[in-house]
Amino acid sequence: MDLRSNEPYWLIKNAFVKSYPSLDESISTDILVIGGGITGALIAHKLLQEGKDVVLVDKRDVCNGSSAASTGMLQYEIDVPLHKLIEQRGLDCAVSGYKNCEKAIFDLKKIIDDIKSNCSFEFKKSIYFTPTRKGIKFIEKEFNTRKKYGFKVNWLEKEALMKLGLDAYAGIESASGAIIDPYKFSYDLLEYCSKKGMRIFDRTEIQEIKNENNKILAKTQNKISIQANHIIHCTGYESINTLRENIVDLKSTYALASEVFEEIPNTFKNHIYWDNSSPYFYFRKTSEGRLIMGGCDEQFKNATKRDSQISKKQKDLTKQFRKYFPSINFKPDYTWAGTFGETTDGLPYFGRPNQKTNEHYFLGFGGNGITYSVMAREAIMHSLNNTNHPFLNDYSFGR
Ligand SMILES: Cc1cc2nc3c(=O)[nH]c(=O)nc-3n(C[C@H](O)[C@H](O)[C@H](O)COP(=O)(O)OP(=O)(O)OC[C@H]3O[C@@H](n4cnc5c(N)ncnc54)[C@H](O)[C@@H]3O)c2cc1C
Repeated sequence: MDLRSNEPYWLIKNAFVKSYPSLDESISTDILVIGGGITGALIAHKLLQEGKDVVLVDKRDVCNGSSAASTGMLQYEIDVPLHKLIEQRGLDCAVSGYKNCEKAIFDLKKIIDDIKSNCSFEFKKSIYFTPTRKGIKFIEKEFNTRKKYGFKVNWLEKEALMKLGLDAYAGIESASGAIIDPYKFSYDLLEYCSKKGMRIFDRTEIQEIKNENNKILAKTQNKISIQANHIIHCTGYESINTLRENIVDLKSTYALASEVFEEIPNTFKNHIYWDNSSPYFYFRKTSEGRLIMGGCDEQFKNATKRDSQISKKQKDLTKQFRKYFPSINFKPDYTWAGTFGETTDGLPYFGRPNQKTNEHYFLGFGGNGITYSVMAREAIMHSLNNTNHPFLNDYSFGR
């Protein structure tokens, strides 16, 4: 699967960070992590902290899947609004989902500090807004639900939003949000793990997996074997190739990074933004003084068709930005496309799809993909040990 187009901003900003060797002889390990994006990096790091013997492989250069295309906005706000999620999944699952995403932002900051990653993490307030008068009721309902369940939110009227430079009818300002360079962070975390002794192999694709007598044998594209007690699939959207259950409908999404501003407009100094349209638009700044925005999703995943629309989508994103932030002028610098998908309830999938094997999947899909990758760390040991954890129940396969 072609996960993204060729020019995501982070690849250009960070250039080529580090290459790992490909696997050229058969090996064995306790745990094999397949996938070296942000999820694989966070899980492998957790396992290393638990003293486990881990091998991580990626069929591309590590961090070059979706994690390179991500716009790196961290929100506790799930793609499905809280009041809708309560209807869909019940009160406990919905509220704890939102609370856990919020906690994940702070947990991630601790990891960044621990490994001293220079990944441009900054805390930000998040504004969820409606661009239409008709949408006010919806946003109000969401505000009241969040307030009722203890989230730190402020109600913003049209005038308050106008003062910020945003032309919209109403919004919810949330205290907890952040931005990150997800590519740099994932690379830093893998390099930290590598220095601590974890074996990492890139350009190593797992093409076949056999379960035999409680051991698993994974075979690469060159028929080299990795024997493991457990396999953890952190294979992102490509996991649909090996899963039986249809958990996500894949589509295409687009993002744009502006030229550098001499001084970033005040509107973006402390806030990140997203709207309640479907599909939604979202906006943030980078630490180098660019604006990044995303949206304009299309319902197809064909990569050729997806990439052929990049210049049109650049115009569409620019037009939308000017509508929302009329006093800010920017010039587009980089525009890219990626495969994307949201689950029906907006929540991730964690655990064993088949209880009879030691194969685990940790998949954070949707706009909260990164916070889900952080949350995965809390459940991984329980999945390995077959012990209970609420995440393995709420985010189980076959739910
Ligand atoms: C344009 C865009 C914007 C986004 N914006 C945000 C955002 O603002 N905030 C947010 O939280 N999320 C965002 N996301 C989602 C986020 O990027 C993903 O949730 C996250 O990157 C997923 O990380 P991952 O490690 O699970 O997947 P990936 O980064 O795709 O990593 C999976 C890895 O598995 C490897 N792999 C797959 N199959 C095999 C195999 N058989 N053998 C070996 N290796 C294999 C791949 O090569 C890949 O490197 C965005 C996504 C896109 C596309």
